[in-house]
Amino acid sequence: MIFLDNASTTPCREDSAEIIKNELVNNYFNPSAKYMNALTEENKLNQARETLKNIVGATDEFNVVFTGSATEANNLVLSSSLSRHKENIISIGEHSSVMAKSKFYLDNGVKISYAPLNSVGEVDKEKFMELMTKDTEFVSIMLVSNETGAINDIKWISEYAKSVNPKVLIHMDAVQGLCKIKINLKNLKVDYMTVSSHKVHGPKGVGALIYRKNVKLNPEILGGGQEMGKRSGTENVPGILGFINSCVKLNEKIDENRAKVHEWKKGLISEIKRQSEESDLRLIMNGDEESASPYILSMGFLGVKGEVLLHALERKNILIGTGSACNSKHSGNVTLSAMGRSLAEIECNIRLSFSIDTTIEDEKEIARTIVDCAKKLKTTSKIKR
Ligand code: PLP
Repeated sequence: MIFLDNASTTPCREDSAEIIKNELVNNYFNPSAKYMNALTEENKLNQARETLKNIVGATDEFNVVFTGSATEANNLVLSSSLSRHKENIISIGEHSSVMAKSKFYLDNGVKISYAPLNSVGEVDKEKFMELMTKDTEFVSIMLVSNETGAINDIKWISEYAKSVNPKVLIHMDAVQGLCKIKINLKNLKVDYMTVSSHKVHGPKGVGALIYRKNVKLNPEILGGGQEMGKRSGTENVPGILGFINSCVKLNEKIDENRAKVHEWKKGLISEIKRQSEESDLRLIMNGDEESASPYILSMGFLGVKGEVLLHALERKNILIGTGSACNSKHSGNVTLSAMGRSLAEIECNIRLSFSIDTTIEDEKEIARTIVDCAKKLKTTSKIKR
């Protein structure tokens, strides 16, 4: 099987799975309990916070709340912020966890402006400048788009926003960027950052919010006061330790991995382009091939429905996506339409996403399978008509 849907999830590393098993079976103590074994677990948790902070260049001004997912971390920031801020800006290309939560507040009268995207899927800087006013108190913009791999210029966005209103709070959903592109919070004027474990070869069910200690963060889940009172519930110590081990290992080779994946993507694109030209297929590429994350490729063949192509490839043992898995239950694709894509272009969208485990030994063969399937489907749909 060739797994090309790593933006939806990644396999857990063996050594992280070992750590998790050992914690579950042998070190199962509740970190809030009072005896020594529990204290040891609490120390491991706190060490995990420090390690995550180091990986993303967070100084002592930051702290980490572990959550059950990035969806939960996004909900935590948005409910804490949108419930009290007058004017807010959210990019139209955000993940459904941000969009759905913002829609809830919008429907309840909160002022939210949705920042448009440019044709390659990045937040349009000029439009952002028009939206940003001295009354804007909260901005939420993702680092890497889960749909197209477009990378937003968070440094510029956060600096510009704070130059207009120094008190504005900035949230960055960095789920698709963590340990894949270098993040240094020391250089970004970001106040909250969301990450997820299962996108970086950690277990599912673990996320985190890294936040500036001096900004307000009202908890959504109340109870025993765990996680500095920001998120009650007994911590998932095994999952968190597995997550952090996966981060450390991926981060150690961040540049090497990126260069390798970049080469794969380039090779695959050039083969797909060449072969679709030969096959008379109209190829649509969403996003900029060079500036986007090498880990995500959003594309399509005009006239070939993305979902039908997905199942045709599944029969050939190649697993791909048709855009964000979290969005797949909803029709349409907000990101692609914000980039100016037509309905016909959106319908044919597929997303290939890579990981360091992707062993595309022969891009030619994979490109051949994808193009052949698309060609057959195009012919069949013509005959049916
Ligand atoms: N944010 C982005 C950009 C994502 O791609 C995803 C998952 O696809 C999430 C948030 C949600 O992550 P989780 O599955 O941990 O809830």
